[in-house]
Amino acid sequence: PRLGDETLDQLPDTVARPSYDRSTLTPGIVHLGVGGFHRAHEAMYLDRLMEDGRDHDWAVVGVGTMPGDVRMRDALKGQDCLYTLVIKHPDGTLEPRVIGCLVDYLFAPDDPEAVLAAMVDPRVRVVSLTITEGGYHVNQVTGRFDPGDTALQADLDSPGTPRSAFGFVTEALRRRRAAGAEPFTVMSCDNLPGNGDVARDMIGAFAALQDDRSPGGEPLAPWLAEHVAFPNSMVDRITPVTSQEDITALAEQFGVEDAWPVVCEPFTQWVLEDHFPTGRPAFEEAGAQVVEDVVPYELMKLRLLNASHQALCYLGYLSGYRYVHEVCQDPLFVDFLLGYMEHEGAPTLPEVPGVDLDAYRRELIDRFANPEVRDTLARLCAESSDRIPKWLVPVIRHNLEHGGRIDSSALVVASWARYAEGVDEQGQPIEVVDRFKDTVMAAAARQREEPLAFLQDESFFGDLRHDERFTTAYLGFLRSLHDKGARATLEDHVNG
Ligand code: NAD
Repeated sequence: PRLGDETLDQLPDTVARPSYDRSTLTPGIVHLGVGGFHRAHEAMYLDRLMEDGRDHDWAVVGVGTMPGDVRMRDALKGQDCLYTLVIKHPDGTLEPRVIGCLVDYLFAPDDPEAVLAAMVDPRVRVVSLTITEGGYHVNQVTGRFDPGDTALQADLDSPGTPRSAFGFVTEALRRRRAAGAEPFTVMSCDNLPGNGDVARDMIGAFAALQDDRSPGGEPLAPWLAEHVAFPNSMVDRITPVTSQEDITALAEQFGVEDAWPVVCEPFTQWVLEDHFPTGRPAFEEAGAQVVEDVVPYELMKLRLLNASHQALCYLGYLSGYRYVHEVCQDPLFVDFLLGYMEHEGAPTLPEVPGVDLDAYRRELIDRFANPEVRDTLARLCAESSDRIPKWLVPVIRHNLEHGGRIDSSALVVASWARYAEGVDEQGQPIEVVDRFKDTVMAAAARQREEPLAFLQDESFFGDLRHDERFTTAYLGFLRSLHDKGARATLEDHVNG
């Protein structure tokens, strides 16, 4: 039978499900952007707490503001807002649990007033977001708020009938202020460093533009800056898009008919800044870390996890691999990645309270080696000009300044330069995906004659091309990549 409150009892014992009484839950959170990640992460933590008998006043009302969210409405409303979270273990085992903390789902275009009513409800104390990086409307060049989006424009003209996520947040806050109710806390769970700060700055800038359009009204932006909390968080759990095979496997192996289950890796991490003046669920009781300062954890993720992705993707691709798990099951690459993390990435980090960095880097390799996740090297190689400068260049600079090691990092930069030539070691074309593709490929095309050409662009590399320790290592690796190829270069480096 289709998943639902009435059929929960009929599920086989192999499927975990809520033992708490969902009919007694009351809403405490409105979540904008109910996709795969929210359902595998925040909702999972809440469901754990509820299963433990706590926080039954923190149930979630989900909201979708995008036209495509009509699919989520139909899936969830057809099954009492229940869905199955399926953990994919590396040995192929599936571990399903029905999650019960979502009590309603509102598709905003159907009824914007219903969404506002939910957000103005004084029982709601947190509005959380997974609206993707694009949902924050940060101009990539200036770093400032970009109001060009059509839904934002509509919300500048008529703030009382919002269409965008930001429009709902500002209008709901305006109505709460008018009603004398406390504001809610805005909790971003998107993958952006300083996600709370970004949310505060961008929503603040949007509110200021709305204020400008209605000069008679009581301005919201200054009030928002003073009264609304935007805690930062670091989130981590690989959650791929649900496939038809996932839906079929759940039905065939477990007898669960779920229109839209969500699948994810076993690992999960959530480090959350403790800044909730209007209260919060006891997330720390469900495995999250609630801390004073998220910055060290973000640096850990950027310089170990994200930089390792770059360390493996170009060399892996040039060595003939196409999937992350293939690379991370190869002992040569494992040695290289563990070495980068131990000797170059980790020494640049401040103290990361409560984390065993040695265990963290080994766990990263296990996660990357999970064949069930099927992450592609092509995905990791894309948009390198955003990634290398943010994730790896700061590691190199730190180590140059402090006399630390830079060899593995120099090899990674050289491997990007080699990859950007757009031809692999068999002479086949590589499809370089990068918004600065033209600049990057033109520089790589010159480097056989002019070996430092790739490092010329200061917006990516600063003045690295003038540091002799770096360029000596870099040029040696680039020459070896050209003469011997990626695998032999890596062997020399790891074993040399
Ligand atoms: P998804 O495609 O399943 O869901 C995306 C959701 O965002 C949808 O509900 C969509 O309507 C909404 N959305 C997109 N653009 C929006 C906009 N402009 N305004 C309002 N809502 C908008 O994707 P997902 O896997 O749930 O990932 C969402 C975000 O979660 C990511 O962008 C990332 O920031 C974060 N995250 C994802 C993962 C992962 O592995 N999937 C891991 C860590 C963090």
